[in-house]
Amino acid sequence: MKRKILVTGGAGFIGSHLCERLLKEGEDVLCVDNFYTGTKENISHLLDNNFFEVMRHDICFPLYVEVDQIYNLACPASPVHYQFDPVQTTKVNVSGAINMLGLAKRVRCRILQASTSEVYGDPKVHPQTEEYWGHVNPIGPRSCYDEGKRCAETLFFDYHRQHALDIKVVRIFNTYGPKMHPSDGRVVSNFIVQALNNEDITIYGDGNQTRSFCYIDDLVEGLMLMMKSREGVTGPINLGNPDDERTILDLAELIIKLTGSKSSIINKELPENDPVRRKPDITKAKNELNWKPKVDLEDGLKEAIKYFKTIL
Ligand code: NAD
Ligand code: UDP
Repeated sequence: MKRKILVTGGAGFIGSHLCERLLKEGEDVLCVDNFYTGTKENISHLLDNNFFEVMRHDICFPLYVEVDQIYNLACPASPVHYQFDPVQTTKVNVSGAINMLGLAKRVRCRILQASTSEVYGDPKVHPQTEEYWGHVNPIGPRSCYDEGKRCAETLFFDYHRQHALDIKVVRIFNTYGPKMHPSDGRVVSNFIVQALNNEDITIYGDGNQTRSFCYIDDLVEGLMLMMKSREGVTGPINLGNPDDERTILDLAELIIKLTGSKSSIINKELPENDPVRRKPDITKAKNELNWKPKVDLEDGLKEAIKYFKTIL
């Protein structure tokens, strides 16, 4: 008998790659999504697989299904989208987590939470280790996401302590690749779309802020290894690529080079509370999951550029 795996947010960028990999590994996949930022195109190629099922559902409402594992990914991830309806963002992180934890408790299954480097806020410790408690504004425009994700982590650990639930928490750092939505609003997709259209590349602020960029295939591998890890490995565990920390200006220049674009770089206002530096310490992931990213930024960007060329 195949295991039934629930992926919430399965039609999104990461979720659709994860569904595809799980099917390749012979699992029976239930993708639950309300298509807020995800698309049917992301999963249309999976629909003729008998072991793939899609349910349109908002996880802010209870869900009654029988499954063996849950990956909880449902939540808009781009600042533009999570700030569009901030109350809904907090709801999906808090009510959504309660509903999915309640489901895991009823069917007694393992549940993995897609948390984020944003729980560190604008970090004062660099690189960020899991022990660092973060530097987060509770009342700013990013708080619906940051505090929502922090509260979700609290709920996961309380269900673990109070109800002995088998939990896994990963903190994902900036991930990119094919199937990001062209109007997603995050930096890699914005810059590639702008470069391919020979439009101005919009750098927010002076471009000296840094991010560390992880390719989607590496991230999905890390998620699956975490799910397979022995009981008791709860995390939180950072997943990201510490070797590919770049300033946003360097990223823009690299994307212009790789696309052969005629775009110019322009500067726009820096959004409030935009973190200055971000890079994961992945010692835990290396030791506990035997995981480290394999795809370097240039190779990963080439794949993403290839994808955007096909859809633009
Ligand atoms: P995404 O926006 O492409 O995917 C999110 C998916 O969740 C979409 O398909 C969306 O329709 C769905 N969704 C949103 N609200 C929902 C609801 N109430 N009910 C059901 N489905 C809902 O984003 P992504 O990059 O694929 O991110 C997936 C997860 O990983 C998110 O939880 C995000 O916070 C986390 N994460 C991503 C990154 C990254 O760099 N991509 C970094 C840190 C954390
Ligand atoms: N950014 C930018 N131009 C864009 C989009 C983003 O300069 O068109 C910057 C943004 O201000 C941030 C970094 O790129 O400093 C990463 O932004 P993103 O939205 O991808 O994710 P974040 O890490 O901020 O959640």
